[in-house]
Amino acid sequence: MAGWSVAVGVTLGAVAGALIAARWVASRSRAEGQALRERTAHAEAELARQERSSADQRHLQDVVLSSMEEGVLLMDDRGRRVFSNPALEQHLGFLPDVIDELRPLPFRDAVGRAIGSEEIQRAEAETSAPSKWLRASAISVGPDRSVLLVVRDVTEARRLEAVRRDFVANASHELKTPAASIRAAAETLRNGALEDPPAAQRFTEQLEREAMRLSRIVSDLLDLSRLEGGSDLAERVRLDAVAADEIERLEDRLAEAELTLELHADGVPSVAGSGRDLALLVRNLIDNAVRYTPAGGRVDVTVTSQDGKVVVRVADTGLGIPQRDLPRVFERFYRVDRARSRETGGTGLGLAIVKHVAENHGGEVTVTSELASGSTFEVRLPVGGKTRSAAP
Ligand code: ADP
Repeated sequence: MAGWSVAVGVTLGAVAGALIAARWVASRSRAEGQALRERTAHAEAELARQERSSADQRHLQDVVLSSMEEGVLLMDDRGRRVFSNPALEQHLGFLPDVIDELRPLPFRDAVGRAIGSEEIQRAEAETSAPSKWLRASAISVGPDRSVLLVVRDVTEARRLEAVRRDFVANASHELKTPAASIRAAAETLRNGALEDPPAAQRFTEQLEREAMRLSRIVSDLLDLSRLEGGSDLAERVRLDAVAADEIERLEDRLAEAELTLELHADGVPSVAGSGRDLALLVRNLIDNAVRYTPAGGRVDVTVTSQDGKVVVRVADTGLGIPQRDLPRVFERFYRVDRARSRETGGTGLGLAIVKHVAENHGGEVTVTSELASGSTFEVRLPVGGKTRSAAP
């Protein structure tokens, strides 16, 4: 009996143990299942997050590449287009599907040279219709023979470079003439003209004239270069007062030129600007009117306000400017009549200075003219100055 009960006890114990074990196993596998489910859910969430972030990244890349001014073209190892952005088509005027279609030819050559090379290959070419200059850099990417081509429009940069080169050439030429004249006069004096009083007088006058011309050119060049950096708009400037001051400075010359000059001003508001630069603007306009108006003529300087702008108008009854020259008179060193400009002490820079000052103040300058009847220059400046006028 005891043996039976022991056996039963053992069996029950085993069953209970098995049950406990089974329950433990079940609860453990439940826990594991739960953990597994959690891990799976976590992995799925992570995957989704990565997908989202790589989709976000792709979107970001798309946004960046489509908003780039540079055209981008990626070609695979078989010379087929795998990616391009909108700027590329804009620059090239079409979209090449394969390298053989790539134009201009120097760009195709650059791509050819870049395949398998570690160096960036560059090329520059002019395209027609519309005419522009493009600069390309080709670089091999990755271990295969893929090539990335980046294309930039450098038309404006090249134009500015040409303007700068022309300006340096013109300025050097303008400075060379009086410098050569000074040298010649000094040599003549040294070689004997000093002993001949009338000749000495003539050559020393020439020295003085040419030295003054040099100093006027240098002074205008310095003004221009300063104005290129902008004007200081901190002052409140009354342009009627500026015009009155400038006219007073010119009184002797006006009498000498036998001209009538009148100022018409009706209490205009002040503008935010630079007194020094605005005086330069008014001086150059009146100075030109006086220099290009023959004796007996008249000059009218009017300062008024209109539609939130102060308007300075300088009208003369002088030589006038041919219509074909009107668009160019504001260019540096551009003169309609070179000889007359020189004779009257012109540098060819006065109107370029006027234009710079007007633009630095958020304004503009215009001209109307009729040959042999006269010219009218008009400058319009916003009363609030450049910054406020630029605000919406
Ligand atoms: P310049 O020192 O030669 O006068 P500007 O830049 O002041 O140089 O003017 C450029 C050119 O525009 C002058 O050479 C002249 O031919 C023409 N010009 C300017 N103002 C007048 C004017 N009031 N009447 C006639 N021509 C003018």
